[in-house]
Amino acid sequence: MGPTHCCDALRHHLEFKCNVHKDIFACPDAILKYSGKFDEYGIIIHDGGTSSITISYCPFCGTQLPDSKRDLWFETMESNGLDPWEDDIPTEYDQYGWWIAKESQNRKNQT
Ligand SMILES: [Zn+2]
Ligand SMILES: [Zn+2]
Repeated sequence: MGPTHCCDALRHHLEFKCNVHKDIFACPDAILKYSGKFDEYGIIIHDGGTSSITISYCPFCGTQLPDSKRDLWFETMESNGLDPWEDDIPTEYDQYGWWIAKESQNRKNQT
């Protein structure tokens, strides 16, 4: 299971792979990135690093993009007693969809 991006234009830019630059941040043709772990869309800033500006709306079709799960991710790590900078993060939290599993688990616990 993966993310469903809102339109072909966005999908096209996110799936863009360059034959010359393995690292998208090093490629001047790469303009957008998506983080599955944080469910976050960003415009790449080519400043030599890995900076990007998070966007809330699709630049092509105007669809509102999902809320970033970045804060939730750090909260979840904390509530699990994990230090994101020190500890090994379980792979389930390192990929798209971890918050969906978490939500259905919460629902189960409530009933
Ligand atoms: Zn779109
Ligand atoms: Zn390139």
